[in-house]
Amino acid sequence: MAKIIRSNSTKKSSVPAVPKKVANKGAKKTVKAAPKPVAKKSAKPRPWSAAEVYEAFSRFRNANPEPKGELEHLNPYTLLVAVVLSAQATDAGVNKATRALFTVADTPTKMLELGEEKVREYIKTIGLYRNKAKNVIALSEKLIAEFGGEVPRTRAEIETLPGAGRKTANVVLNMAYGEHTMAVDTHVFRVGNRTGLAAGNTPLEVELGLEKVIPSEFMLHAHHWLILHGRYTCLARKPRCEVCLINDLCRWPEKTV
Ligand code: SF4
Repeated sequence: MAKIIRSNSTKKSSVPAVPKKVANKGAKKTVKAAPKPVAKKSAKPRPWSAAEVYEAFSRFRNANPEPKGELEHLNPYTLLVAVVLSAQATDAGVNKATRALFTVADTPTKMLELGEEKVREYIKTIGLYRNKAKNVIALSEKLIAEFGGEVPRTRAEIETLPGAGRKTANVVLNMAYGEHTMAVDTHVFRVGNRTGLAAGNTPLEVELGLEKVIPSEFMLHAHHWLILHGRYTCLARKPRCEVCLINDLCRWPEKTV
């Protein structure tokens, strides 16, 4: 009877496997795939923590507990007129003109008695004075006709006055009536954006952003602290970062400290 011989082909070979590299020697080299691009880090600065915001405004308060606006005025009405005149003009330039104007006209009635032509004469050193004189007379008429000669206490009402917009209303509500409003002028807009406290493309965005992050206990003076900071320290062209009270907290990538 023939012996059945089993095949060894299923047995594990004792010869080590040929490394692939050697096995492929002479074969065409494969091109390595390019590494995947690493996603760029967002340029958005880290938002301020509540503790950092508190710290910043505590420093402003310690340095200047009772900040004052620089527009001279005698009462809510003259403040309103001064703010309307200050559009695209410096506070110093407005003060120079209003010092004389307000000695003869510090109420809407007296302003109407003075008349547009004379108002124009008093304010002719201020830019856009013709249009502004017209607005001062028109807003005085409206105050008498609709608000009993008083400056109203709501933003919506102030905004109906000729020459007065949201910023004017916020300044008047804050300075005359102690409301926690945030008027955003060119300085506040710059400081809000540079520091990263409240970045925004429009004054309204910055205003709402600042209102959201600034604790209520600082809101009465926050507007002035930020204006003064922008006017004297965080200057548009050459910010004075080396003497800035909040330079360690500021998020501006171009700060010089
Ligand atoms: S560090 Fe410089 S850029 Fe930042 S708030 Fe201060 S002055 Fe402005």
